[in-house]
Amino acid sequence: MSGVGASRYDPDRAALSDLLDGEPGYRLEQLWDGLYRQGRPLEEITGLPGPLRSRLAAALPTALEAAAEQRTDDGATTKWLWRLRDGAAVETVLMHYDDRTTVCVSTQAGCAMACGFCATGQAGFERQLGVGEIVEQVVRAQWAAGDRRVSNVVFMGMGEPLANFDATWGAVERLHEDVGIGARHLTVSTVGIVPGIRRLTEAGLPVGLAVSLHAADDELRDELVPINRRDPLAELLAACDGYRSRTGRRVTFEWALIAGVNDRFEDVDRLLPLARRLSAHVNLIPLNPTPGYPVVGSSRNRVHAFRDRLAAGGVAVTIRDTRGRDIDAACGQLRAGHPVQVDIPTRDRGTMSPGT
Ligand code: SAH
Repeated sequence: MSGVGASRYDPDRAALSDLLDGEPGYRLEQLWDGLYRQGRPLEEITGLPGPLRSRLAAALPTALEAAAEQRTDDGATTKWLWRLRDGAAVETVLMHYDDRTTVCVSTQAGCAMACGFCATGQAGFERQLGVGEIVEQVVRAQWAAGDRRVSNVVFMGMGEPLANFDATWGAVERLHEDVGIGARHLTVSTVGIVPGIRRLTEAGLPVGLAVSLHAADDELRDELVPINRRDPLAELLAACDGYRSRTGRRVTFEWALIAGVNDRFEDVDRLLPLARRLSAHVNLIPLNPTPGYPVVGSSRNRVHAFRDRLAAGGVAVTIRDTRGRDIDAACGQLRAGHPVQVDIPTRDRGTMSPGT
């Protein structure tokens, strides 16, 4: 294997078959099933003879080394900080609910999209992850989940999945085909990269699509989500509509509620007709605090008022829980230990003229 991020979960069946040269033919299926369907460490695939397991473990190293592991929510939420081979770092979150177990994976080390309210965006882009590095996050979380089967995967960790399309799609296919997670239980979240949504539309598996909308007018969205200057709302909404008509799946609009910025009634009233036209589901995310963004999240009352007004307008709307907030594992808080440069507003430096 080669490449900075080479993982045990990169090789396809043909490559593993080469490694098993001289072994009985059924070993390949045993290995594949153990790695993916059972989701177990190689060392524990007991159907394989011990010496073979040792040989394979040496030839097929893992790509993720746990640099830190934190638990909260009475043990229901776990966050890992993984150190990759070349020293890059990413985070993964495992969340148990009554009816499902969800893993939130990163697709890039860092992110180039530069959304100011997101900790990953504040730290900047480091590198793309490979297919194996993404799939390995799910399998490693499965090791920790024990008897609880990972039922859902959300591509909502560090990075922009559609800016790393091939690896994201490779991971989706492997999770679907080999780990056995249904398309309805896989969700790709995007900042709104229009060419990427179009590719996803043609890719042929009706995975969930979540779009980080956050504003329903170009002026505000240009500011909050800078990619909007390249891919403005009209094009984004047309691409979402295309996704819905091709896959039959309603798109989710994510909306992080930022006090005084996008939580006013006028914001709801701009969002309402767009959400209705696309039959979109709206997922409200009370803004989670990050070190580089000075504005706070909306109050609980505001969040509820925003929701109620959408619901009264006939839009399906939910409020996302704030799982893992106290260990910086909630939406927008992942930064893999990177320090963040905090921009101090100019007036605080005393360089502006009095009265401004
Ligand atoms: N790059 C992808 C996926 C990563 S973020 C995307 O933009 O969708 C997953 C979600 O968390 C996105 O909707 C993102 O906008 C949101 N988010 C980012 N920072 C946040 C914060 N501080 N509080 C709440 N949600 C945040």
